[in-house]
Amino acid sequence: MTVRDYPEATPAAIGAALDLAERAFHAWRRESFESRAAVLRRVAARLRERAADDAVTMAIEMGKPVAQGRAEAEKCAWACEFFAEHAAWMLAVQDSPSDASRSYVAFQPLGVILAVMPWNFPFWQVFRFAAPALMAGNACVLKHASNVSGCSLAIEAIFREAGLPEGLFTALLVPGSAVAPIIAMPQIRAVTLTGSAPAGRSVAAAAGGVLKKTVLELGGSDPYVVLEDADLDFAAATCAASRLINAGQSCIAAKRFIVVEPVREAFTERFVVAMRTKRWGNPLAEGAEAPDLGPMARHDLRDELHRQVEASIGRGARLLLGGRVPDGLGAFYPPTVLDQVRPGMPVYGEETFGPVAAVIAARDEAEAIRLANDTPFGLGAAVFTRDLARGERIAATEFDAGACFVNGFVRSDPRLPFGGVKESGYGRELAAFGIREFVNVKTVWVG
Ligand code: NAP
Repeated sequence: MTVRDYPEATPAAIGAALDLAERAFHAWRRESFESRAAVLRRVAARLRERAADDAVTMAIEMGKPVAQGRAEAEKCAWACEFFAEHAAWMLAVQDSPSDASRSYVAFQPLGVILAVMPWNFPFWQVFRFAAPALMAGNACVLKHASNVSGCSLAIEAIFREAGLPEGLFTALLVPGSAVAPIIAMPQIRAVTLTGSAPAGRSVAAAAGGVLKKTVLELGGSDPYVVLEDADLDFAAATCAASRLINAGQSCIAAKRFIVVEPVREAFTERFVVAMRTKRWGNPLAEGAEAPDLGPMARHDLRDELHRQVEASIGRGARLLLGGRVPDGLGAFYPPTVLDQVRPGMPVYGEETFGPVAAVIAARDEAEAIRLANDTPFGLGAAVFTRDLARGERIAATEFDAGACFVNGFVRSDPRLPFGGVKESGYGRELAAFGIREFVNVKTVWVG
């Protein structure tokens, strides 16, 4: 359903915005950390003041329940305050003794950074890039997903209302086809994309052709391994919460549940109950009517998810819950559980971007780890066990993924680096690793 049409930015408007961004960058890069931090703190305050209205925009454009939209705005405010407080030490010069009288490493901003962003966390994805990039002294140009143009303009307004110098953060309303020509423009120094693997390939190729740096945050098919010594009630509740976050439309939602044989049945029973008790409904409803899940963001995405479910059932998966497209308005899809999932089924090998869980049986720990890593993706992974040393060993040395949790569901946090391996992308966001992605790591040698 179309909520509103927006005019596409013309090539002349894009050129003017990039020129302005470049000029704004040259002034901003000379500002102290304290003065940049003061602006970011005002941005945080503005996010909180507008959160109720912005949550409604998110709900209307992509279906997120309003309470979750307000929580998302609060997390963005936290990221702004976190980088306002910590950027100075993260980017402080590092002495690097050599044959010079003094030699050190300095971190200098790069310039104008293009951000191509997805709709699923329409505020958080943008702020977790923009807060560190701005604190490092860069300028940001946002190309947001086409179905969240209202969110894109709202974010631009927040920066403007908070007093960020004009041109330092610009939202361009353009389709994906406009991205490669923008990357090639001389004002752009680097590009970050959060989205699907096909979009990542296309942006990486365009940036590679003009030798510009990329950071890619792509899809995931996170495995959650449940071992025989796990607290099954806790594991089932945590697995359901992670699978259903944002109606399952999260890159780091749990997607494959790999359960060792001795506890497979007991876990699966509890898991189905936990999935069934989550309520789905109108994302604008509040109070007693507030749902846990809204609709999926678009009908085409629901169609694709349902295809994955039906094709997996066709190849022998057993449907334990959900799996039917409901009648009525909105792209709703019910919490769905499939078990007896095996290689060759779509829900085993592909990313499922919606509330569909695949339960996979493993003989023992060794087979569970092999199955967990048997995926083209490598974003997050979790293991459930009462033996913390065992869990830590698996997380630290066995999982082939960027964020590995023991007895907890994988989530992003400004204090911890975030990113993937394999087809989940490369580079990191958040923490000190994230703020150093869009800087020139400059060697200074004084004879
Ligand atoms: P998408 O279709 O790849 O779109 C993401 C962004 O890329 C949008 O702004 C889109 O613009 C643009 N885009 C699409 N194709 C492009 C192309 N060929 N060239 C340049 N830009 C292009 O992904 P989505 O459906 O919005 O988001 C879901 C995907 O994002 C999932 O795979 C999910 O796992 C991943 N994701 C990853 C992370 C992470 O941190 N790793 C976080 C969130 C989501 P248009 O809307 O105009 O097409």
